[in-house]
Amino acid sequence: MHKVGFFRSIQLKLILIYILLILLAIQIIGSYFTTSLERELTSNFKSSIDGRIEVLSHYLQEAFNKERTVEEGPTIQEDVQGIIGDIETDSSWNLIVVNNQSKVLATNNYSQQDKIGKKDTRDIIQKVLLFSDEQVQDRKDSDGNRIHVQATPLFDNEEKMVGVIYLEASLQDIYDQLSEINQIFYQGTIWAILVSAILGILVARAITKPIMEMRRQAQIMGKGDFTQKVNVYGTDEIGQLAIAFNDLNDQLKHSYAKTEEETRKLNSVIENMSDGVIATDETGAVTLMNEPAGILLGVNPEEIYGQLIMDVLKLDEKVVDPSELPENGSMIIDFSEDDDIFLIRANFSTVTDEDDEVTGFITVISDVTEQEKIEQERREFVSNVSHELRTPLTTMKSYMEALIDGEWKNEAIAPRFLEVTQNETERMIRMVNDLLHLSKMDNKEHQLQKERTDFIQLFHHVIDRFEMNSPEHIEIVRELPNEKLFVWIDQDKLIQVIDNIISNAIKYSPEGGKVTCRVIKQRHQILVSITDEGMGIAYDKLEKIFERFYRVDKARTRKLGGTGLGLAISKELVEAHHGRIWAKSKEGKGTTILFTLPLMGKKRRNNS
Ligand code: ADP
Repeated sequence: MHKVGFFRSIQLKLILIYILLILLAIQIIGSYFTTSLERELTSNFKSSIDGRIEVLSHYLQEAFNKERTVEEGPTIQEDVQGIIGDIETDSSWNLIVVNNQSKVLATNNYSQQDKIGKKDTRDIIQKVLLFSDEQVQDRKDSDGNRIHVQATPLFDNEEKMVGVIYLEASLQDIYDQLSEINQIFYQGTIWAILVSAILGILVARAITKPIMEMRRQAQIMGKGDFTQKVNVYGTDEIGQLAIAFNDLNDQLKHSYAKTEEETRKLNSVIENMSDGVIATDETGAVTLMNEPAGILLGVNPEEIYGQLIMDVLKLDEKVVDPSELPENGSMIIDFSEDDDIFLIRANFSTVTDEDDEVTGFITVISDVTEQEKIEQERREFVSNVSHELRTPLTTMKSYMEALIDGEWKNEAIAPRFLEVTQNETERMIRMVNDLLHLSKMDNKEHQLQKERTDFIQLFHHVIDRFEMNSPEHIEIVRELPNEKLFVWIDQDKLIQVIDNIISNAIKYSPEGGKVTCRVIKQRHQILVSITDEGMGIAYDKLEKIFERFYRVDKARTRKLGGTGLGLAISKELVEAHHGRIWAKSKEGKGTTILFTLPLMGKKRRNNS
């Protein structure tokens, strides 16, 4: 959080409010005071002027009413001059008395003595003479000083206007006084502002200190530290706020601890899940990926954060936006490289907030390569079985139809047709038996009747049987050690394995071919190998011949009566005896089928 700058702070605002309020108050008081004072002073001034003009009028009236003869006594002009000279006036006064002809009779201004006896043309005097009414004006003179101008009519005993008293008096003193008072006000205002600013700072500090503390505390709380509390300075609104803040701190502490615990639980669940979990935000950017997801995708979860789920799951060609992901559905994603099959199932679900707005996606991924392989094998197996059974049935059907159509009478053909039908039936029975056998082994239903057996003796016995029945053009060579090698085996099953391998070797041997049966004693096991000189098997098919129904040359082996299940059964049986079976071959030169069997330990040999 940024620190609040002084110019944006509440402190400054409070100080400004303080100062503005004080200014406003002073302004109102000041303007009221100065206008009242101005009014009072000017009215005092004018009433003092009025008083003196009244006295002057009185004397002047007397002078105008006096009976005068031309020869004797002073003239009216002299009398008026005398009266004006006697009357007490301010030095600033300019007093002129004119008669009703607007001739100047007297003035108190020595510099204007020359105007005596001359006509005065001032408007205000003319107005008084015209209207017989007093005229008052406040104006500024040529120097800009305020002056009070007053012209008062003079009447004789018969109420006839005889002249005018004209007075100019300076108001400057009053306004100088007022401006001094204003100066005092201004100074007082500055002091008041200074004092209120200091007070404002103190008050603002007192108010903002707890707020600043709460702000600091909020920052600490934001970092997940709920151990500290703010001071409660009083019971006012800020004090109440501090109490509420501390309560909030307690509640947040509680919920934070709860959330932390939930998160820890969730994290431990996610991390310990065997499936991979990837969480993203609403844009599809990865926000969480557990270790198994990283292992499955071959990436470091730390480096994936922020990348789009579509890129991580290599869906960018199919899915452009996360909203296109199958909601609460799943898809198989092929991560195979060359021959290395790797399939991942991804289950998608959306995360929504209380307003049902999508806030993210959860993807759970798991390795389904094996599952898919098994499923694929199952499908292939069903199709193989159907195919394998249909072929002999179709053959039999066509032969039967031919017989029904009359060939049964044909003594040359009918027995051959019936023989083919019998062979096909036998092959089908063999196949169904083999399938049953395999099915039993798959379901672990078969019980091996294991017993201590000298493998060399058992092998001789099987080879003897083959030599009696095998075609003359095949030679069976024995390379067997002259010692007893004991193994813990189900004799019938092992005979079945050897039978199958030797009969294959004979089946695929050419005229005059040699089949070599060999046993080599190794440290803890015996290595049995049966080698022929047949056409061999291509290198890339060496492992496949142990798969169910796999035949290198389908048409040929079928003709030879093979079911394609013999080596698959042999593999199951050898592995059930804790051995291993594999093939080696050189195309055109011959094939060797090898298998191992563990030798019996001394302990078991002694016990048995
Ligand atoms: P089948 O009953 O068809 O012989 P197997 O499971 O015994 O079935 O053998 C599977 C396939 O392996 C055979 O169809 C054949 O193509 C091949 N095969 C097995 N043994 C040999 C061998 N000795 N020489 C060449 N091919 C062989």
